[in-house]
Amino acid sequence: MIQKNKGILTVVSGFSGSGKGTIMKELLKRYEGQYALSVSATTRNPREGEVDGREYFFRTREEFEQMIAEDALVEYARYVGNYYGTPRAYVEEQLEAGKDVILEIEIQGALKVKEKFPDTLLLFVTPPSAEELKNRLVGRGTETMDVIESRLARAAGEAEGMEAYDYLVVNDVLETCVEEVHHLIQGEHRRVSRNIEAISEMREELKSFSK
Ligand code: ADP
Ligand code: 5GP
Repeated sequence: MIQKNKGILTVVSGFSGSGKGTIMKELLKRYEGQYALSVSATTRNPREGEVDGREYFFRTREEFEQMIAEDALVEYARYVGNYYGTPRAYVEEQLEAGKDVILEIEIQGALKVKEKFPDTLLLFVTPPSAEELKNRLVGRGTETMDVIESRLARAAGEAEGMEAYDYLVVNDVLETCVEEVHHLIQGEHRRVSRNIEAISEMREELKSFSK
């Protein structure tokens, strides 16, 4: 029988406020047990309602630099004055266990992951318009206007790198967007280059008929 191949590593990036966090939460809820979302470490302060170990591992700058020194991160980057990074152990364990692992990280980190693991699927989430992005960031109400301005400036920079991604996902209606992300990842399992073992097994079995 053709076996399900090992877990797919997917990177989801997108401008701050495009809805990545909201999409991930819904995807994990709808397809419980299927996806493993990596929890990053960061030096930024927790937002109201964020819990250490759930949204992020909130760390001091010294603690974060210690993780870098110990090579405990798959990648890390600086974003609007803070460090963000992906702990290595969890990603490796979950992929090995056959789970589809998702990293919700910004573009510099995405490119580093792609370099290290070339078969990573890169998805880029955008809102339907730039205006809507600003509305969502302001509407979320978690940052000061200064930080919002910095994040919008950063978005303009990130937009320059969008061609590096495999698929663009527009987050207009949340449910539609979540389904799209799910289908893009599941579609990857069918890619011929990810099924080389199954193909050679099938060939061997077919050959045995003509012996
Ligand atoms: P990100 O993680 O990309 O920074 P969030 O998930 O925090 O973005 O979403 C930013 C804001 O936009 C939040 O207030 C969220 O409720 C809202 N939002 C997310 N998706 C949609 C959508 N499809 N339509 C309208 N608002 C949305
Ligand atoms: P936020 O402060 O809004 O939670 O995240 C800011 C940005 O950092 C987002 O674009 C988010 O995707 C990114 N980010 C979160 N975790 C990581 C990480 O581990 N590595 C990198 N490179 N970026 C991250």
